[in-house]
Amino acid sequence: MFADLHLHSAFSDGTFSPEQMVARGKRAGFAALALTDHDTVEGCARMAAACGAAGIEFITGAELTAEHKDTELHVLGYFLDVTNKKLLAELARCQAVRQNRIREMVARLNALLVPLNADEVFELANCGSPGRPHVARSLVNGGHSRSLDEAFEHYLKRGRPAWVPKAKMSAPEAIELIHQASGLAVMAHPGLNRADDLIPDLVAAGLDGLECYHTKHTNRVARHYLEMAEKLNLLVTGGSDCHGKSKGRPLIGTVKLDYAHVERLKAAVSRKTVEALKRT
Ligand code: AMP
Ligand code: FE
Ligand code: FE
Ligand code: ZN
Repeated sequence: MFADLHLHSAFSDGTFSPEQMVARGKRAGFAALALTDHDTVEGCARMAAACGAAGIEFITGAELTAEHKDTELHVLGYFLDVTNKKLLAELARCQAVRQNRIREMVARLNALLVPLNADEVFELANCGSPGRPHVARSLVNGGHSRSLDEAFEHYLKRGRPAWVPKAKMSAPEAIELIHQASGLAVMAHPGLNRADDLIPDLVAAGLDGLECYHTKHTNRVARHYLEMAEKLNLLVTGGSDCHGKSKGRPLIGTVKLDYAHVERLKAAVSRKTVEALKRT
């Protein structure tokens, strides 16, 4: 039995609906799936229903954009209570930041004489948590860039003329936000951040796990983080980071996490719930 615990739907910058993602997950033979849209849990209700109908176990999730010591980090939250008031309020704030950032990016593009309109981007994104991929798609649709990669290379990558930094919560704040919503906090794709020296701080802040298996982790990188997880007594997760068709071919099915890790995650959540009950 296998799981994919890192998936993006059209509720953030993926192209599949939750139902389309679950249909793909079913074909790939997954026993469990988690939805981890950027800074939103809006897709979780539909994903839960679709998983239920397909006989797949669903784990609620989100990928929070955070930073620590000037480095952008992504913190995955799992088993989140998606009705948690503080979580929803903070996510709404992140989404407002994302929307303002889109307006700012469009203004910079306009200053470069690229005639893009923020409303076009919002219409195309059609979600509360829009990001650079939506601006890139609008640039391609409008004939201003030949491909998503070109849009990022010319305009949207860090340091390029339409790049706008994003105000982010700190990584310890992200971990705390996840914990107070009954979730587990996991550092996403640590191999992409080259920030191993930050991990001890995150562990001190209560980090629960490391995403050891990820599309962009080679076997050597995965082994490195598996050893680190073992040493630091952290849980192990993994997923494809599928964005549907937005990054070429859909990645769901290419990373298969052994279900034994899901069992360990669930045991950790139960342990924490019992401890929290004891404290009250
Ligand atoms: P944002 O959250 O707005 O900063 O956008 C970051 C997202 O952009 C990442 O999660 C990726 O999905 C996507 N992304 C980054 N670089 C590229 C690229 N070269 N081509 C397509 N998508 C990209
Ligand atoms: Fe993304
Ligand atoms: Fe990420
Ligand atoms: Zn992701």
